[in-house]
Amino acid sequence: MSNQPTIEEIVSLCKRRGFVFPSSEIYGGFAAVYDYGSYGVELENNIKKAWWKYMVQVREDIVGLDSSIFMSPRIWEASGHVGGFSDPLAECKKCHARLRVDHLLEEAGVMADEKMSEEEINKLFSENKAKIKCPTCGAQDFSDVKKFNLLVKSNLGNFTEDWNKEPVYLRGETCQGIYVNFKNVLDSSRVKIPFGIAQVGKAFRNEITARQFIFRTREFEQMEMQYFTNPADEMTAYEKLREYRWNFYLAELGFKAENLKWHQHENLVFYAKEAYDIEFNYPFGFKELEGVHARGDYDLTQHTKFSGKELSYTDPFTNEKYIPHIIESSVGVGRTVLAAICDAYTQEETAGGEKRVVLKFKPSLAPVKVAVFPLMKNKPELVAKAKEIFDVLKMEFMCEFDDNGNVGKRYRRQDEIGTPYCVTVDFESLEDGAVTVRDRDTMTQERIKIAELQKYFGEKLK
Ligand code: ATP
Repeated sequence: MSNQPTIEEIVSLCKRRGFVFPSSEIYGGFAAVYDYGSYGVELENNIKKAWWKYMVQVREDIVGLDSSIFMSPRIWEASGHVGGFSDPLAECKKCHARLRVDHLLEEAGVMADEKMSEEEINKLFSENKAKIKCPTCGAQDFSDVKKFNLLVKSNLGNFTEDWNKEPVYLRGETCQGIYVNFKNVLDSSRVKIPFGIAQVGKAFRNEITARQFIFRTREFEQMEMQYFTNPADEMTAYEKLREYRWNFYLAELGFKAENLKWHQHENLVFYAKEAYDIEFNYPFGFKELEGVHARGDYDLTQHTKFSGKELSYTDPFTNEKYIPHIIESSVGVGRTVLAAICDAYTQEETAGGEKRVVLKFKPSLAPVKVAVFPLMKNKPELVAKAKEIFDVLKMEFMCEFDDNGNVGKRYRRQDEIGTPYCVTVDFESLEDGAVTVRDRDTMTQERIKIAELQKYFGEKLK
C-alpha cells in the first residue's frame, strides 16, 4: 500500500477531521485563503512553539520581535518591493485563467525564473508556446506576459477617495520589520554582533495562482530569523545556519530525511552571496519549504539610504565600524503544516485486514496527546471515571474526551488526527484501578494504573 498521499487525500482528511477549511465556504469560498480548524490550530501552534524554542529560547544570541503588519510605505520602496516584487502573469485567451508563466515554463521542462525581466520572459514564453497548455482548459492561446506586483494595498489612515495613489501595504514579508528595528534591538538588549532577531507573523501577497492548497496562499504566516554578522564572518555563519535549520526538520519536527533536499539557487539576485532552499517532497513534487539565504549588506544599506539613519555597527572591542551582513532563515507556517501532515500520513493494513489511515506525528506535534474513552456511553460509572481521569490529564496535556460510537471507531478517528495514546476505562478499571492504554503506531495495548498515568505520559510524551 502506497504511503505517498495524493493532494486530494490530504485536502479531504484536513476538511473531514477539522485541520483546514476553505475560507468563507458558505459564501462560495474565497480563493487562496484558508482557515485552520481545532486540530489545525493545535498543529500550527505546536510547530510555532518548536520553532520559537529552537530559534530563540535555547539560543543566547537570538532575541524575539513582534513588529506590526502595517509600516511606512517607504520601507517597501527601500526594500525593492514597490519596484520589483512581481511575478510574470499571462492570461489564457479562452478561459481567462490567470497563470504564472515561470511555473508553466518549469512544468514544461524550461528553466525560468520569476526574477527575469518582462522582455526576457516574453521571449522565452513565445519560443516555448508549443509546449505549454492552459492547466484549466488545455488551450494554447495566451496574452503577452506582464509582470504583476504582489504587494497588497490598503487605505489604512488615508481617508481620501484616491487613496490608491498613495497606498500603504500589508507587509509582503515579516523580515522588513526586523531590519528597521535593528538599532532599537541593539540599543535595548544586551546583544552584540553576531546576533539574530526572530519573529513569527502574518504576511500577504497577491499570488497569481491559487493552486496547491495551503502551499501557496494570499494570506500566510512566516517564521523568520535574520542574523547580523561581521562581513568577514558571513559565509561561516551561513554554513552553520544551513546545518542548524536542516537539523530542525529531522530532530525537532521528526520529518523523514528522504522527504527533504537542498536546492541551490542558480540565478542569484545581484546582492545575494549564496541562496539555498530546503525543499520538501509534497504530493506535487519537491518544492520550497524554507529559504536560507546570505544577503550581504543590502538590507541595512537600503534602509540607511531611504531613512537617512545610519545603520552601522561599531565593534566594542576592536572599534571596527561596518554595515552588518545578514543571513536569513525564512519558512511559512502553512507550508510546514502541510509538510508535517504529508510526512506523517501513513496507510496501513492491520493484522485483521482492516485498512487504516494514521498520522504518525512526532508526539510533540500531535494536536491531541491523549484521548480518554469510557468503554460504553450509557454506563454512568464508566463515564464518571473516564471524566475524572480526563480532568486530571488535561491539566498537563492536550486531551480529548470521546464517548461517541464504539471504541474501534474512536481509535480510527484518533489515528487520523494523530493522537499518540488512547485511554479506555472499562468495568475492570472500577475493580483494579487500571485502564487500557493503546499506542497509535504499534496498536499494542497495556494496562496502566490510573494513579501512574501522569508519570507514564510525562515520560512517553517528553
Ligand atoms: P515561492 O518561490 O514558492 O513563491 P518565495 O521564494 O517567493 O516562494 P520567500 O519570499 O523566500 O518565498 O518566502 C519565504 C518563505 O515563506 C517560503 O519559503 C515559504 O515557506 C513561505 N511563503 C512564501 N510565499 C508564500 C505563500 N504565498 N503562501 C505560503 N507560504 C509562503
